[in-house]
Amino acid sequence: MRNLLSMEHLTTTEIAQLIRKASEFKSGARPFPQYNDQFVANLFFENSTRTKSSFLVAEQKLGLNLFDFETSTSSVQKGESLYDTCKTLESIGVNLLVIRHSENAYYDKLDNIQISIINGGDGSGQHPTQSLLDIMTIHEEFKRFEGLKVLICGDIKNSRVARSNYHSLTALGAEVMFSSPQEWQDDSIGAPYVDMDEVIDQVDIVMLLRVQHERHGSEEVDHFEAGHYHQDFGLTPERYQRLQESAIIMHPAPVNRGIEIADELVEAPKSRIFKQMENGMFLRMAVIDTILENRKG
Ligand code: ASP
Repeated sequence: MRNLLSMEHLTTTEIAQLIRKASEFKSGARPFPQYNDQFVANLFFENSTRTKSSFLVAEQKLGLNLFDFETSTSSVQKGESLYDTCKTLESIGVNLLVIRHSENAYYDKLDNIQISIINGGDGSGQHPTQSLLDIMTIHEEFKRFEGLKVLICGDIKNSRVARSNYHSLTALGAEVMFSSPQEWQDDSIGAPYVDMDEVIDQVDIVMLLRVQHERHGSEEVDHFEAGHYHQDFGLTPERYQRLQESAIIMHPAPVNRGIEIADELVEAPKSRIFKQMENGMFLRMAVIDTILENRKG
């Protein structure tokens, strides 16, 4: 693995190896290798709290040199293309790029870039490190994927998290279902759409998604009614009560409390939302280490 662009490029064996390595970093069973001679730049053209900061911590734990790149003060503001920006960083000696961009599959334009790229999210396309940290969290809980029922609720059409997770969880043997307002369904993905209330007491995992207002038109934003959405597609206390004893709740965050999930459920006993964030840092360490190890070899 020299890049991580999409979950569709990873085999289930590679996924298992990454999860194992991340778990070993987390438990202390594996020492943190140090890459003091390597430079990394984080290029975030879309907002981020968790992904950017957990990459930053992961990079520092691995001893990498952080190349200070601010999209707001770079020549991107003068119209420089993403390709030219990346080529420049490659020429200067950066070894690894972490990129988040609003354009789907932006990485297709970066074929001629020789340094490694980790996709930190491309538009509504893919978010591979989120999917891997979700898989790690699920594995920690259930120790298997085969036969697990996963309900993903919300803005499926605009969610890179839904797309990445549908692909990888299905490949690992889980059964993935979607629940979504008609206008945010995307039939090209392949999972069946179900009524949340009909399956809520049978699923092992409920994954709530944030409504992606930034990818909606202004009319869609104006017509959105948070209260209705919460009643129809959110995790309410009533639905929480119907969950199986062993079921867990996930959300990639940022969470809109009271919309996708009732405020008081964000840290309820079944919630693994902050566990996902904790795992994300170790998972990103595993991805960076695997890529840099392969480049050496
Ligand atoms: N943080 C996730 C992402 O970047 C989920 C979200 O923003 O809703 O896709």
